Amino acid sequence: MKDETKCLHAGYTPKNTEPRVVPIVQSTTYVYDSTEEVASVFDEPTKSLIYSRFANPTVMAVEQKIAELEGGVGAMCTSSGQAATLLSILNICQAGDSIISLGEIYGGTVNLFAFTFKKMGIECIFVDKTASDEEISAAFKPNTKAVFGETIANPALSVLDIERFARLAHAHNVPLIVDNTFATPIFCKPFDFGADIVIHSTTKYMDGHAVQVGGVIVDSGNFDWTNGNFPELVEPDASYHGISYTKTYGKAAYIIKARMQLMRDFGVYPAAHSAFLLNLGLETLSVRMQQYYKNGMTVANYLKDHEKVESITYPGLETDANYALAQKYLKGCNGVISFEVKGGREGAMRFMDALQLASNEVHVADIRTCVLHPASETHRQLTDEQLVAAGIKSGMVRLSVGLESVEDIVADLAQALEQV
Ligand SMILES: *Cc1c(COP(=O)(O)O)cnc(C)c1O
Repeated sequence: MKDETKCLHAGYTPKNTEPRVVPIVQSTTYVYDSTEEVASVFDEPTKSLIYSRFANPTVMAVEQKIAELEGGVGAMCTSSGQAATLLSILNICQAGDSIISLGEIYGGTVNLFAFTFKKMGIECIFVDKTASDEEISAAFKPNTKAVFGETIANPALSVLDIERFARLAHAHNVPLIVDNTFATPIFCKPFDFGADIVIHSTTKYMDGHAVQVGGVIVDSGNFDWTNGNFPELVEPDASYHGISYTKTYGKAAYIIKARMQLMRDFGVYPAAHSAFLLNLGLETLSVRMQQYYKNGMTVANYLKDHEKVESITYPGLETDANYALAQKYLKGCNGVISFEVKGGREGAMRFMDALQLASNEVHVADIRTCVLHPASETHRQLTDEQLVAAGIKSGMVRLSVGLESVEDIVADLAQALEQV
């Protein structure tokens, strides 16, 4: 199946007289004919359903759809993108370990990596994408367990050189984890370029309608966890009758361990109703992404020549610093454009307050056009140094172009820019 078809059909195939649409199974639990059968499911929790803290048929249909869209062996949904990032790392890292992350990533992820992980005894070493291979290699330590980056960084909009970072990670026997939220599998499939694990905030383009907060972890099945660096996946798990994930589940060891161990213990699983809403978004993901790209290009071309615009970042523009990487890794760009309004922080705020159609909201990838001011909103917690590392300037506006008529969007931007 091609992506457009997978969006509609993957993960759920109704049989004779069953519902056409993925049903909402709003039930915390499942019944069994005998105690013996229940007992056997505790021995092998992937055999059938037990409890909706870690598996539910509605959520599983969505997990299967996303796994197929990314080309992975399995996926696990989480109650937020943050939960997906957290579990993707905790699944292979513990106190005393370290990870390497690109500096240009989502502000919430910076907080998690730099502050909360530190309290948990996990060190994050941030590296710059412009650093040489030698400099990045020097950041690896014997306790390094993963490399992390975003396909299209939010909000810096830089494009990750996935092949390069996969090569560097693999040379040190660790996986590359890619946050593919901004590209979606429609525009980039990181596994094709050597990434091992993909995560998403499904809150963004996958949902698209701004109705559910969610996340997902997808496993490529390609990483060799038996390389000596990841005994937790190989050696007997005392919390599961001494099971060895790599021996029992082979290629799906990572994603099954994430569910059996971490989802069991942390319980950050989405509700069936949220998964149902996410599925509606996924059904039109491919069509919506193509239109975001069209509208995004038109708006970017309008802004780039505007006298009140100091600079613009949109990887779809030929003049963009990330254009070459975008050409290599992306089949299209989303609707997110970062640009600097003349007049710094004050100019940006005046412009934003003058907008009429575009709404001022702490969101991105909404079906409706929206704006936010990273320096004073999403990235407020970051120090000036971290702001620079994340690629954020004080006059920078993050515009998320929606699916309204692009003429209406441009007219709104034009009247607001006039007031700067
Ligand atoms: C929003 C976002 C997250 C966090 O996701 P939530 O669903 O808000 O928890 C992570 N990564 C990226 C790139 C994001 O845009």
